[in-house]
Amino acid sequence: MFYIGNHVSFSKGFLAMGKLETKLGGNVFAFFTRNPRGGNAKEIKNEDVLALLQWMKEHHFGKIVAHAPYTMNLCSAKEKVRDFSLEMLKEDLIRMEYLPGNYYNFHPGSHLGQGVEKGIYLIADALNQTLKPEQNTIVLLETMAGKGTEIGGNFEELKAIMDLVERKDKLGVCLDTCHVWDSGYDIVDNLDGVLEEFNRVIGLEHLYAIHFNDSMNERGSHKDRHEKIGMGKIGMEAMKKIALHPKLAGKPFILETPNEDEGYAKEIAWVKSLQNE
Ligand code: FE
Ligand code: FE
Ligand code: ZN
Repeated sequence: MFYIGNHVSFSKGFLAMGKLETKLGGNVFAFFTRNPRGGNAKEIKNEDVLALLQWMKEHHFGKIVAHAPYTMNLCSAKEKVRDFSLEMLKEDLIRMEYLPGNYYNFHPGSHLGQGVEKGIYLIADALNQTLKPEQNTIVLLETMAGKGTEIGGNFEELKAIMDLVERKDKLGVCLDTCHVWDSGYDIVDNLDGVLEEFNRVIGLEHLYAIHFNDSMNERGSHKDRHEKIGMGKIGMEAMKKIALHPKLAGKPFILETPNEDEGYAKEIAWVKSLQNE
């Protein structure tokens, strides 16, 4: 059983996202909790949430992997940006409680010259102020391409954040295939080795979700430009091996490829066809 889906727009509400995903052939999805480049969050209507939960149950959906806005930077050098980011995180986690038991993924942040160590400390500090024992959402750190001063361009940095967080049971990792490739991990010729390294450094039990993307750029480019599945430098064969890897089985795979609905439907159909091979 594959859990595969894509990023869908939240603009028409919760049930609309579930219906669209079903139409595209998927059974999981991601959405931006608010405008990815802005700040305002949409109002939540209880009946709409309940309708989505019912829809997901009837159509055997896997976990939702909500995505924080790109403007969130919990380790910014500017206090104002850090405070604003912390508020967004807190608010988003309250909103996520409408959808209990799902995931919330965010980019750890960019330290903007303060240094990796300071950045790691600030991110962990924000998580320690936010994660609550009673929350029903697992918060996921995304593996990053290591562009600019991004934190999370290697497994060690994510592990360092996790080590400083008290509520480890509410924290996990989302592995983005484009990002790990761009950051230098050879998931084309040594997928087993990369997953072993993930296991050694972080532990595969902390891996909750996959962002399933090809990359426009060479391994180690630190660029972060996603490509359609099979059209990039990772390529079809390697993407197929990732989709079928037993250590990743059962996890939600989220497409963040440059596609319209039709392209997503094709990629979802392709992934689903693999289980019959
Ligand atoms: Fe992301
Ligand atoms: Fe991603
Ligand atoms: Zn990306």
